[in-house]
Amino acid sequence: MDPVVGLLALQGDVREHAAMFVRLGARTALVRSPEDLAQVQAVVIPGGESTTMSALALRWGLMEPLRARVADGMPAYGSCAGMIMLADRLEDARPDQQTVGGIDVTVRRNAFGRQVDSFETELELPDVGEEPFHAVFIRAPWVEAVGPQVRVLGRVGAEPAAGTIVAVRQGSLLATSFHPELTDDTRVHSYFLQMVREHA
Ligand code: GLN
Repeated sequence: MDPVVGLLALQGDVREHAAMFVRLGARTALVRSPEDLAQVQAVVIPGGESTTMSALALRWGLMEPLRARVADGMPAYGSCAGMIMLADRLEDARPDQQTVGGIDVTVRRNAFGRQVDSFETELELPDVGEEPFHAVFIRAPWVEAVGPQVRVLGRVGAEPAAGTIVAVRQGSLLATSFHPELTDDTRVHSYFLQMVREHA
């Protein structure tokens, strides 16, 4: 049986991620409770607002079950706010903000600053696809430091942020600062599905 990809549906651009997996023919289910989480073999944490997502995950009793599943090896992918949720350490977090963690990185929230609050750029992600990706960044985080187990998948190529890390993988965990779900390009989702199937 094909694995079911859970979409953490507390807040954020859940529908856009769902549409990508529909296009790829994958099975998905919304995750809003620990019972929902128990039914899925992988989780996607969407873009949105990580402080709200953290508060809702705590209120709905999902934070600990998510941590336990991630620690147990469940594949997870986070875009933007989702990347923040998968980071072990944060800069510029709200004091009460918590993360699921799992990826040994320090992630800075809203890192690109006011002038380049939101921007789009062509990005090289050689592990994921040959042709460059049109990447959409919206009040995006960046990865400020990576642990030894983390594989850097992509860096911004253009100034003023050239060289900053915006895509990482550690084992079965994947995170991007940008939002492939807001484009037509399914290659990041397809790459994640491959990770899920390899794990299953
Ligand atoms: N700035 C948001 C946060 O800190 C993330 C923005 C996004 O997901 N587009 O959660």
